[in-house]
Amino acid sequence: MSELRNLPSVDKLINSPQGSEWIAGHGRALTVEAIRLTLDDARAGHKSGSPLPSQADLLGKIADKLEFWAAPTLRQVINATGVIIHTNLGRAPMSAAAIEAARQASLGYSNLEYDLAQGQRGSRSLHAETLLTRLTGAEAALVVNNNAAAVLLALTALAHRRRVVIARSQLVEIGGGFRVPDVMKQSGAKLVEIGATNRVHLRDYQQAIADQPIKLVMRAHRSNFAIVGFTAEPAFDEIVAAAHMADIPVLDDLGSGALLDTARFGLAHEPMAQESIDAGADLVCFSGDKLLGGPQAGIIVGRSELVVKLKKHPLARAVRSDKMALAALSATLSHYLRDEALSEIPIWRMISAPQAEMQARAQGWATSLEFGKVIPGQSTVGGGSLPRESIPTFLLALDLPHPDRFLKQLRQNDPPIIGRIQDGLAVFDPRTVLSEQDEIFLKGIRNINKREGR
Ligand SMILES: *Cc1c(COP(=O)(O)O)cnc(C)c1O
Repeated sequence: MSELRNLPSVDKLINSPQGSEWIAGHGRALTVEAIRLTLDDARAGHKSGSPLPSQADLLGKIADKLEFWAAPTLRQVINATGVIIHTNLGRAPMSAAAIEAARQASLGYSNLEYDLAQGQRGSRSLHAETLLTRLTGAEAALVVNNNAAAVLLALTALAHRRRVVIARSQLVEIGGGFRVPDVMKQSGAKLVEIGATNRVHLRDYQQAIADQPIKLVMRAHRSNFAIVGFTAEPAFDEIVAAAHMADIPVLDDLGSGALLDTARFGLAHEPMAQESIDAGADLVCFSGDKLLGGPQAGIIVGRSELVVKLKKHPLARAVRSDKMALAALSATLSHYLRDEALSEIPIWRMISAPQAEMQARAQGWATSLEFGKVIPGQSTVGGGSLPRESIPTFLLALDLPHPDRFLKQLRQNDPPIIGRIQDGLAVFDPRTVLSEQDEIFLKGIRNINKREGR
């Protein structure tokens, strides 16, 4: 047991040159804790028969602990999955202008809620509102924390304890705990389900409206699934007409809510916010970080009278958007206004990138690596939009004895690289790898390949 006396004391380690370095880098309290815990481990190990660690070992363990504690858990990763709006990987990457706008807004003070002309309190949501009304043709707009909050706020402010009509086929679960029926329940609205799972008719809407007092008619976009076969659903403007005939407003939850037409790129048409406004929707809500390609946000556009009701509701304060998101959102919307969304917004650049460009990039990867082959494949839009659609692409494919082990090692690379397995091959889609990440992507693949002894 006297061997334990060879272990240095906490004080000795703190006062060593190494200790001063740790304190400079990580602060005194964290350093002391790392030293204490490492010495405790060594003593406990010794008690159960392990040899005492060498001085170098001990120092290494303390440094590892400090490194581990200090490392950020939220990190940049390289998305080589080909899923463009990958919810688990942070949805839409933002444009350079959006990132700069968020940086500027947080660098110092801003006129977030300050009217510079009047020298008095202003409105924070004003900053994106003019852009939103111009782009969608709506009278008014409001930005909240995310689209789930937008739907909750709209239902709570307009239909608390009142009846809301919605088709059975639209009682969707988006994932991550967002279910339309649950959000309706949470808002205090009473759900009036109409139609059958696969078919709903205009007369179902008319009947429900005739039978009982209805406060709101809601449509929710079937973002992440499709109903095929024997199906029916009235056109949206017919639903709006039936509701308006009885003076009932219509809320349209678009989910993704594109401002550009996805059909331009060979995909199915994803509903656009300006179309819903055109068709007479009273309120339309959609996400900021799906097909809009901006920061997390819930965007509500529609009739002034209703938007004002939402703004005045106490819940609006609880779900308000922060200054960085508002700044980034305005910058993102400006790209649409200047007709430069396809070149400036990363997700639209990815969606619109021609197949030949993907082939050239995948081929460039294979040539640079001197292994792997290029095969045709499919990218998807993801983010709860266009569920049955894909975009033809080319993939770098690696034929490996243990592709899953390879992918696991890549996830532990710095930065982590996320690929996928297809037909037993490890595949990587250039469509979702930002071009400025090419070099670090290739370096990661090379490193892991070497480590695997190939
Ligand atoms: C994605 C989605 C939501 C939730 O939006 P978030 O911005 O993730 O909160 C709500 N409704 C529909 C139809 C959606 O697709």
